[in-house]
Amino acid sequence: MGSGRPVKGRFAPSPTGRMHAGNVYAALVAWLVAKSAGGTMVLRIEDLDRERSKPRYIDQVQRDFEALGLTWDEGPYFQHGRDEAYRDAFHLLQERGLVYPCYCTRADLKAASAPHFGEKAVYPGTCRNLSPDARREREEAGRMPAWRLAVPDDAVAFDDAFQGAYAQNLASECGDFVVRRSDGLFAYQLAVVVDDAEQGVTSVVRGVDLLCSTPQQIHLGRLLGAAEPPRYGHVPLFVGPDGRRLSKRHKDADLEALLAVYGSPEAVIGRIAHKSGLAPTDEPTTPENLLHIFDEKEYRAHVCGSISISW
Ligand code: GLU
Ligand code: ZN
Repeated sequence: MGSGRPVKGRFAPSPTGRMHAGNVYAALVAWLVAKSAGGTMVLRIEDLDRERSKPRYIDQVQRDFEALGLTWDEGPYFQHGRDEAYRDAFHLLQERGLVYPCYCTRADLKAASAPHFGEKAVYPGTCRNLSPDARREREEAGRMPAWRLAVPDDAVAFDDAFQGAYAQNLASECGDFVVRRSDGLFAYQLAVVVDDAEQGVTSVVRGVDLLCSTPQQIHLGRLLGAAEPPRYGHVPLFVGPDGRRLSKRHKDADLEALLAVYGSPEAVIGRIAHKSGLAPTDEPTTPENLLHIFDEKEYRAHVCGSISISW
């Protein structure tokens, strides 16, 4: 496990809909990785975006984890009410002159940047060197800025527990990214780094769709003086029959539908474990049972480099 720190993993669901098979799979692997190392799990409900987070899903996700046998040892922690911690981190960056206001509208951004690496658009740096006059002009026009972190022309490299070596040049492949939105909310990237550091998370297991955010998070963690980055492992995503990754919009793969089709939480876990190669058969099972046969090295060899599993 590298550094010899006790392993602390985390579930970090966004309560914006019912979990789907891909969310359950990532949570299951996160749990197996932590528990097989004698570690613990934290539950953090990522309700940063108050508009998209729904109270009913905050309850539901906890009941779902319980029913699935995905236990946690600490939490639930929440992101709402944590503005002070995020603001402190933001001020630290601001004092060091590392953030600047960005007045670009969504349309400006669309016009200025080509989509990169699937989903990621590289911000072209339009507002980085605005003169004080130009800033004043935009402020007087009533435009509320977002705040971006000025990134260096450096590569951030790390060894992903499941995907292997990964590196990204922050300037050319990512660009200056938003740490505070124009509506005043702190951005996901900032909140997640502050929370993982403060909650002592040492193991982050999540879907490979977030792999390209990890260099940003490692960089932010360093700037904020986080002790040591967590160990990151990105698991393949389930894709639907249409070849697109499952999302909360695919109603037929959300937990409600899965429970209706397969009949029990154990049957759902069995199905997911078999599909993903965690179990030799699709017999109903529990995370606790899978723990007896889980071997992280074997799992790594099995998934290495794979980014999707058909559902
Ligand atoms: N809350 C995010 C999600 O549900 C996960 C964030 C993370 O794992 O860093 O997609
Ligand atoms: Zn801008």
